[in-house]
Amino acid sequence: MKNRESSFILEFKNISINDIPFVGGKNASLGEMYRELTKKGVLIPDGFAVTAYAYRYFLEKTGLKGKIKSILSSLNVKNTRNLSEHAKKVRNEILKTKLPEELTKEIISYYKKLSHSYKEKYTDVAVRSSATAEDLPDASFAGQQDTYLNIKGEEEVLKSCVKSFASLFTDRAIFYREQKGFNHFDIALSIGIQKMVRSDLASSGVVFSLDTESGFKDVVYITSIYGLGENIVQGMVNPDEFYVHKPTMKKGFKSIISKKVGDKKIKMIYSRNYKKPVKNIDVPKNMRKKFSINDEEIIKLAKWTVLIEEHYKKPMDIEWAKDGKLGKLFVVQARPETVQSRKDSNVLEDFVLKKKGEILVTGKSVGSRIGSGKVRVIKNVSGINSFKKGEVLVTEMTDPDWVPIMKKASAIVTNRGGRTCHAAIISRELKIPAIVGTDNGTEILKNGEFATVSCAQGETGYVYKGKLKYKIIKHNLKKIPKTKTKIMLISGTPEEAFEQSFIPNEGVGLAREEFIIASYIKIHPNALINFEKLKDKKLKKQIENLTKGYKDKKQFYIDKLAEGIGTIAAAFYPKDVIVRTSDFKTNEYANLIGGKIYEPNEENPMLGWRGASRYYHKGFIEAFKLECKALKKVRNTFGLKNVKVMIPFCRTIKEGKKVEKIMKKEGLKRGKDGLEIYVMCEIPSNVVLADEFSKIFDGFSIGSNDLTQLALGLDRDSEVVSGIANENNPAIKKLISEVIQKAKKNSKKIGICGQGPSDFPEFAQFLVKEGIDSISLNPDSVIKTILKIAEAEKNLKR
Ligand code: PEP
Ligand code: MG
Repeated sequence: MKNRESSFILEFKNISINDIPFVGGKNASLGEMYRELTKKGVLIPDGFAVTAYAYRYFLEKTGLKGKIKSILSSLNVKNTRNLSEHAKKVRNEILKTKLPEELTKEIISYYKKLSHSYKEKYTDVAVRSSATAEDLPDASFAGQQDTYLNIKGEEEVLKSCVKSFASLFTDRAIFYREQKGFNHFDIALSIGIQKMVRSDLASSGVVFSLDTESGFKDVVYITSIYGLGENIVQGMVNPDEFYVHKPTMKKGFKSIISKKVGDKKIKMIYSRNYKKPVKNIDVPKNMRKKFSINDEEIIKLAKWTVLIEEHYKKPMDIEWAKDGKLGKLFVVQARPETVQSRKDSNVLEDFVLKKKGEILVTGKSVGSRIGSGKVRVIKNVSGINSFKKGEVLVTEMTDPDWVPIMKKASAIVTNRGGRTCHAAIISRELKIPAIVGTDNGTEILKNGEFATVSCAQGETGYVYKGKLKYKIIKHNLKKIPKTKTKIMLISGTPEEAFEQSFIPNEGVGLAREEFIIASYIKIHPNALINFEKLKDKKLKKQIENLTKGYKDKKQFYIDKLAEGIGTIAAAFYPKDVIVRTSDFKTNEYANLIGGKIYEPNEENPMLGWRGASRYYHKGFIEAFKLECKALKKVRNTFGLKNVKVMIPFCRTIKEGKKVEKIMKKEGLKRGKDGLEIYVMCEIPSNVVLADEFSKIFDGFSIGSNDLTQLALGLDRDSEVVSGIANENNPAIKKLISEVIQKAKKNSKKIGICGQGPSDFPEFAQFLVKEGIDSISLNPDSVIKTILKIAEAEKNLKR
């Protein structure tokens, strides 16, 4: 047998990750997984690699090398036109050259062998390029070289191999090598020839073993579409998205903490035309609303992802496909994730927009940066020469040919694509803010106008008119002192939770449900409970649209609430996350879709039907039970037992007891399975009767916003008296001192989650002196307040 250095072909079963020099990163990774992970249950389609040696042999033997060198001698990559002319010449030269006979023979013989192993004469294969330097940690650009799908027959396989070799000289590949300082002949191209997975008949997608936006490592992030996976990488389709929490999944829980349906308008399938073996077709409307994989498959993919990550000992980026004929999942590629894993986790970089402006378009934000510049709308790649450094690139969608100008952009805005499309991956890598999937960015944004692109406001990205001011705050987390007082966060926005988990914290002291209800659910719970009985047709249609895919409308409420809470709980697991049950006032509940039907009109909603008083009332008890079911799902199905519950606005002991009774009936029993139930201390009665409240609750969290309102007799909503409201008022301070002492005497936990300590650091210092256990802060005021608290703690010791 020939040695590895001079073999034209290596089969997957004989390849390991150490073979990168011979077969490139993609093939080496496939071989490694085929050998090591098949036995652990991860399915990899079989195949073989045409080696880098074969490529070099091809160039030398046919005299191509000399020809290419001579063509490239007059290359100037700074000139886009010069680059594309030279690249084309090289590719044409390769494409018209035949493979040497001895190489042809071997490729055919292994192709036949592979076909026979699948009991076919000529089986369908994917022909993928695997450059020897492409997948190195700092040189990974998604899809730099081409992939050919559904290739069948000797002639077609050989042709695809030559095309593959030529793809090492696309404009972008040449540009990229020049930029990185690689010699064009130091990089070779190996080819992977792999049995096709019939995902044209099912679904496929990409999985990351971490959250690609924040770098949060405890989740697996799965995307999925119908048909062949090329459409995801190329950003042609907005995929379904799923998050699975790893630590609880490892404990055996079905912890799919988030599920979002993508629109999945088209899918790529096989065509009968051998010249164009795949094509795109429309997905029927009723299929678009459905998830493209089921829960069992989501968990299986997540488990495989963890196995692959553990095997390689680093975060991974994986392509998967489901075979519609076999009904089985396969992994078709895996490479190290390169963006987040290189981030310095000790530095916290915060982009803050100083003032918002007129919103021009919105879409999905990529990363959390802000950029601004003149808009340049470019409809297709032929127009990229007009792009100037520092402009905002606005386009339908990018592909690897656009990389040279993406590098020069201050921000990128695309009409199509999801968070794992080409534009998103490259922007993340280049650290350029990008908004994908705007639908109509190219129509609304106008050439030459100034725009600010902000990805610093969570999942939604905003393009604002004009050049808005923003600042970048850099924190060195190593220099932040540790305090004795527990610092917790106020966090009610699931989409920001993963990012917030990097801020120094000991959990979440207040996770309000209201934001989740208003943004993810949008509908009044009673309108969902009574959906069948609704008379207003327009309203019914609106609800139907928002709850697509859900026959049982109550389940929609439970699932979305559980996902929102679950995401926050996962972000801070295993630290405590105190979730407060809903505390909308009647005017706020009335604003939800269908809300006006169920809410009374109150003169002063601040003092009206809110908090605990709703939960046992016949007009709301069924809705409260849905909240309980969501909390139960988070704890029992997702396994996130770090979730504690807090009851807001509990005026009397009797109310507290009634609420606990309902919760117990719903399976949320205080003390069972570590469940703690807290009460907000935000009404003077909570302070006066703190000893009695201590008997029925596990602890208190001071709601200084309401406590100030009620002790000073000021309506929080009234502009006129707002100037008088101040937590530093001695009356408020006295109440707070009293309840801290009473809680301590009763051995109950006592914290604070009102706005006061975030806004007034000296107020935080007062709380420390009084001996409070924990202080909850808005994420953006944590660092400065910690410094103040550390100072106060130091003074106390003196
Ligand atoms: C409070 O009252 O201080 C509090 C934290 O609750 P909310 O602001 O939601 O009423
Ligand atoms: Mg309150």
